[in-house]
Amino acid sequence: MATMLAARLHEVGTAFSIDRVEKPTPRPTDVVVRVKACGIIPNMKNVMSHWKEWYPYLPLPPFPAIFGLDAAGEVTEVGARVRDIVVGDRVYVNPGIGCGACSACRTGEFTNCDAYTFLGYFGFGEGSSTVFDEYPYAGFAQYMTAPVSSLVKLPPAVSYEEAARFGYLGTAYSGLLKSGARAGKSVLISGATGTLGVGAVVLALAMGCTQLFCIARNRSLLERLQSIDPRRIRILSVGDRPIADWVKEHTGGLGVDIFLDAIGPGAPAAVTLDGLASLRRGGRMVDIGQISEPLPIDMNRLMCSQNSVIGSLWFSLAEGQDMAAMCAAGTLDLSVFEHERFPLEKINDALSAVDQRRGGFTNVVVVHE
Ligand SMILES: [Zn+2]
Repeated sequence: MATMLAARLHEVGTAFSIDRVEKPTPRPTDVVVRVKACGIIPNMKNVMSHWKEWYPYLPLPPFPAIFGLDAAGEVTEVGARVRDIVVGDRVYVNPGIGCGACSACRTGEFTNCDAYTFLGYFGFGEGSSTVFDEYPYAGFAQYMTAPVSSLVKLPPAVSYEEAARFGYLGTAYSGLLKSGARAGKSVLISGATGTLGVGAVVLALAMGCTQLFCIARNRSLLERLQSIDPRRIRILSVGDRPIADWVKEHTGGLGVDIFLDAIGPGAPAAVTLDGLASLRRGGRMVDIGQISEPLPIDMNRLMCSQNSVIGSLWFSLAEGQDMAAMCAAGTLDLSVFEHERFPLEKINDALSAVDQRRGGFTNVVVVHE
């Protein structure tokens, strides 16, 4: 029996243990990926420690479970029915998997599937248990299986460490697409120096947005953010002055076209409400963040000014492939990220490193030699 190393969680509230498990083989429409890098998302520790109290309605994989959401690596085996993907291909595995058969999946809207599931993380519905049974492998292991329909082919321009960031980048990209972001548009980004926020900033720049209003707390991180493109990026530390006043001052009194809320957990509702008040008439707010307080929204004001509030979850395979193409073309620049690499055996140290990270510029990854 061929085996491999995997970091598994045996119980919520404990650390990962490094176990030797059976190496997977592909079913006809699957591939086996030799994982080279897997991102550690800031929320991973919450999943490990508090999940059952915080989100009892979102199912975890059966324990002992292999976690690891954002994996990138090299294809080492392909199933009998796999076309176009060959051994040696460099890929990112989009861990968002639908059932493939329901009405949402059949129209290509996997994120709206009742069984939508993040491999190596958690599911969104009862149907997720079937997905976890079919795909029990994830990025904190040497190998994983993945359906061929989940693979983003990576050009040489994207390193495995950069690809391990695609989950957060894709979340920002999909949100920006839903917001109507494009050349000439102005965007307000909250939580701009965070893990979602920094990605949102580089993507909004890549998409041609001409004015970026970035809000966060940490001034030195904000200054570093502005240095990416001082002509297009303005920064404000939350609390220095009302956000809407600042935005309107620089938009001829109109407000922004787009408000992308990428705020982290624990932030007060006031920041999001102030962001909403910064929209121009007809402007759109897209939420990709983790605001935990309910928002009192004045629907009459929203109606009169024709503002939209949109929730956006993750991203599609096509959007992932867009980002790979943008990197290949040089329009999307991921060089702002600093990678902190940990071998699989040091995964518990890597989780601690996530807590010590310097904002969203740090990319903590588990790498496999
Ligand atoms: Zn489905």
